[in-house]
This record gives sequence, C-alpha cells and structure tokens, in this order.
Amino acid sequence: MNLRRIGVIGAGTMGSGIAQVCASVGLHVTLIDISESALAFGLAAMKENLQRQVRRNKICEATRDATLKQIRTSIDYAVLSDTDLVIEATTESLDLKLRILRQIEEVVLADTIIATNTSSLSITQLAAVLKRPERFIGLHFFNPVPVMQLLELIRGLQTSNQTHSAVDSFARTIGKTPIDVQNAPGFVVNRILIPMINEAVFVLQEGLATAQDIDNGMQLGCNHPIGPLALADMIGLDTLLAIMQALHEGFGDPKYRPARLLKDLVAAGHLGRKSGRGFHSY
Ligand code: NAD
Repeated sequence: MNLRRIGVIGAGTMGSGIAQVCASVGLHVTLIDISESALAFGLAAMKENLQRQVRRNKICEATRDATLKQIRTSIDYAVLSDTDLVIEATTESLDLKLRILRQIEEVVLADTIIATNTSSLSITQLAAVLKRPERFIGLHFFNPVPVMQLLELIRGLQTSNQTHSAVDSFARTIGKTPIDVQNAPGFVVNRILIPMINEAVFVLQEGLATAQDIDNGMQLGCNHPIGPLALADMIGLDTLLAIMQALHEGFGDPKYRPARLLKDLVAAGHLGRKSGRGFHSY
C-alpha cells in the first residue's frame, strides 16, 4: 500500500516537523489542530525552519515554496476523509488521545492506517479503543523531526504485518531509518536514554562531580555529542520526569525511580532551557 496522502493531528513541535518532512518529499499533507492560531504557529515554525535551510544553501527557494504548497490546514477532522495515513501528534494525555483516535476513525476510510507519535503511552492500549486495531501502529519520531534520522515503528499486540510493512515503506520514503520495536514502556531509545540521564542526576545529587564535569565525562569519555545533563535541559526536566515515572509505573521496578533532585527541580519550576535554568543556566 502506497501511503501518499498524510494527515497530521497537532501542529506543535512534533506535528509541524512531521508535516514538513512529509511535504518535502512531495506527499500531500493535511495538518489539523484545535485552533487557527495553533495552525498558524505550526506553519510559522515550518517556514522559519525551511528559511534556515535556504540561508544555509541546503535547499533553494523553489523547494521551500513547493514544500509549503503540499500542506493544507484545517480545524475540521472531516477533511481527513481522503487520507491514507493519519499520524496523531497531540499533547501527551491518554484521555485526549483515546478521544482523538475515535474521532479520526469516524472520518477516515476503512483501510486508512492510523499512527500515534506518543512517547510513553501503550500502543496496545490505544489500539484497543479502535474498531480496526490491526491498522494502528506507533510511529515515534525524534526531535527535531527534520534533522533526526531515526523512526521507531512500534507494533501493538493487534498491529497487522500489512500495516507494519506499509508504514516501513513510508518511513523510507520520508528519508528516515526505521527500527522495529515491540510495545513496552519507553519503547527502545527512551528505555535506554532516560534512565542513563536519571543516573547522571543521581551522580550530581550524591555530590560525586559537578554538572559540567559529569557532562564533560560523558562527552570526552564516551564520545556523546552532548552531556546527559545538558541533554536533560534540552528535553525539558518535566518531560524527563514524566517519562521516568511512566517507566517506573509501567515496569513496577524500583530501578526506574526518578532521582529526588529531578523531582525538586521540576517542583521549583527549573525545567531546563525553556525556563532559563535547569542543571545549567541559560
Ligand atoms: P506540543 O505541545 O508542541 O503540540 C501539541 C499540539 O497538539 C498543540 O499544537 C495542540 O494545540 C494540539 N492539540 C491538542 N489537542 C488537540 C486536538 N483535540 N486536536 C488537534 N490538535 C490538538 O507537543 P509535542 O512536543 O509536539 O508532542 C506531541 C506528541 O509527540 C506527544 O505525544 C509527545 O509525547 C510526542 N513526542 C514528543 C517529542 C518531543 O521531543 N517534543 C518527541 C517524540 C514524541
């Protein structure tokens, strides 16, 4: 199945990036959000991103314009009726996503594939709300979407081989490298990455080294492009805590308990780059 007409729900950080990469390879994109202002925000982010690529001579102005022309926006889910694949990329809330997935299924064709970009919710649990759960799959993009190469394809218990294979081709069409993952809290990358960052917070909390030395240690000793605490500040400490809590709850294993210092910083509103202060100051 050739997936060429793509619906994207949510024009935020991830949705606007997903819409952009799909449009840039000539797919037809329908971008949905709850308000015209949210859609305008998403479009402005895409324009700024494409303009930066023009300035760096990575694309020409004609390519920028052609990409933007592939995207139509709406606040009405009914326009999704002609799509082959709909990717849900709205706020991370189980109740909201369950409601939106039902809403999507009401308007799309019977063979449309529905995907979610959730970071922490169970694909199997989300699929269970649908009439055609075999046509549902997790598509976990990484931030910033136009830059990051990886796409985790997460199969729920119900996902069919046909759905998986159609989405695998789609991933390659948009220039991403897919990896196959079974549904479990944190999937693969966050399951490994987030506890590693949490451990760096324990090291800081125990006074074993300064934040800068911890980051230098992992950059210079392990060749990481960025230290774990600087990365935590980029991700946002509230997001980091939420993922750690989802791992803790999902596995019921104390090895995933969030570090006290992480909880304290979130409680104090020190959320990283977005608030000007986290493990480092900005
Ligand atoms: P965001 O807050 O930037 O954007 C969410 C968008 O969803 C907003 O524009 C909001 O208006 C819209 N929205 C809310 N309710 C809606 C509805 N009923 N219908 C249509 N649109 C609605 O969030 P984000 O960072 O883009 O995250 C989106 C999803 O992607 C989440 O599930 C998150 O876990 C996942 N994710 C995020 C990252 C990241 O680094 N930010 C990485 C991978 C996956």
